[in-house]
Amino acid sequence: MSAERMSTAQCAHAAGIRQGTWSAYVARGHAPKPDGRLRDTGAPYWLRSTYERWRANRPGAEHADATLATHDRIEAADKVDLDDGYRPASNVALARRLGISAATVTRHRKGVCRCAQLRARRAGAGAR
Ligand SMILES: [Zn+2]
Repeated sequence: MSAERMSTAQCAHAAGIRQGTWSAYVARGHAPKPDGRLRDTGAPYWLRSTYERWRANRPGAEHADATLATHDRIEAADKVDLDDGYRPASNVALARRLGISAATVTRHRKGVCRCAQLRARRAGAGAR
C-alpha cells in the first residue's frame, strides 16, 4: 500500500486501537468512511490526509495533550529541584505548586500514566 493510502490495520495501529475498534468507529461514524477500496481485494483504504484530519479533531486529543503537558511539567519541576541541589518536592508540595492533585503527581511520577503509551502512539503515527 502506498504511503498515501492507509489500510484498516494501519489506521488502527496509528490510532492505538484494535482493527475491530477502528472498523466499529467507521461503522458508527466516529471515524471517516473509507476513501476507496482496493481493486484486487475490495479492502477499504483511507488517504493519509483523511486519517490525519480525523486524528487532529479526534475527541480526546486535547485531553491527551493536557495529560502529556502535565507529565512534562512534573518532570521539569523535579529536574529544577535536582539541578538546584534539592531533593524533589513531595507529591503534595509539588501538586500545590503546579495547581494539580497529589494523586496526579503520584501517578505520573510512578509512571502509572498513559503518557508513555500516548507518546509511542504518536511517534508511530508520525512515522510513515
Ligand atoms: Zn505521565
